[in-house]
Amino acid sequence: MLERYRAILSGKKLPYYLHTAEDEHYHLIKEEELRELHNKNLKSDVPPLVLKSELAHRMLEHCELCEWRCGANRIRGETGKCGVSAETKISSVFLHFGEEQELVPSHTVFFSGCNLKCVYCQNYDISQRPDAGRNVHPKILAERLDHGGGINVNWVGGDPTPNLAYILGVMEYMKEPLPQVWNSNMYLTKEGMLLLAKLMDVYLTDFKYGNDKCAKRLSGVDDYTMVVKRNHIIAERTGDLMIRHLVLPGHIECCTKPILQWIREHLQSPGVNIMTQYRPVYRASGYDDVARYLSQDELNFISQLKDEYTI
Ligand code: SF4
Repeated sequence: MLERYRAILSGKKLPYYLHTAEDEHYHLIKEEELRELHNKNLKSDVPPLVLKSELAHRMLEHCELCEWRCGANRIRGETGKCGVSAETKISSVFLHFGEEQELVPSHTVFFSGCNLKCVYCQNYDISQRPDAGRNVHPKILAERLDHGGGINVNWVGGDPTPNLAYILGVMEYMKEPLPQVWNSNMYLTKEGMLLLAKLMDVYLTDFKYGNDKCAKRLSGVDDYTMVVKRNHIIAERTGDLMIRHLVLPGHIECCTKPILQWIREHLQSPGVNIMTQYRPVYRASGYDDVARYLSQDELNFISQLKDEYTI
């Protein structure tokens, strides 16, 4: 587990983002050709950071980074379902000591805004206010991340997905061999996932639902299980994978169990962290099932499961 991550920390491997190439004037190439070049490169090598960055910035003109596929021209000031503008807003940047043991201290960048609308969002003050926070020049953030004392860089929110172009812009200024951690709900498109491939060293994912009905009702999204399962499989091919699952009250049978079963059947050996700290916040009081804390019976059941699954 976390083999790539450990090899980077011990100096045996470089993080993907430090595999660079000469600038080949990618800004002069049409988007379709850029994409072809990127995907061809992905099969045999590590695509240059500048190529990924150029492609991500072009995608902002018709945003399809996540499966909402809004098509918003964010460069021209349009916003999509996430409400995140092209001018990224950061809620906070700090050394996080509360992540999984292997990851701390993790230099964490919390973006404002999210592409999901979970009624019980545990971070709603950040995720549902895409305009809150500050825009920070990529160079300034890069210097802080390079010299801030973290053993990795942890891109989170809200969700990092709408901010991928900005993140690549920051990496272009970074110099230190810090593993890059993608901490996300994983509701990206395949195009978005391919940009992350051979860029992110670790995927720290949030796997929420075991069926589409719960996903639609509580987070407002379509095709959740197809998208998130596909993206976990893509993630595992190029990076280390650690999956978090926040247990929702009343959702052990319909969500927790099917998720764990799917992980067991379809993934190699990801880290799994089953989390029980659910709090009924934000709009949860309007939904009977998630309007409460986990019961003692649910906690007892999960503690048995944890023996089997937790890292
Ligand atoms: S990130 Fe997703 S929700 Fe936001 S504009 Fe792009 S496609 Fe729409």
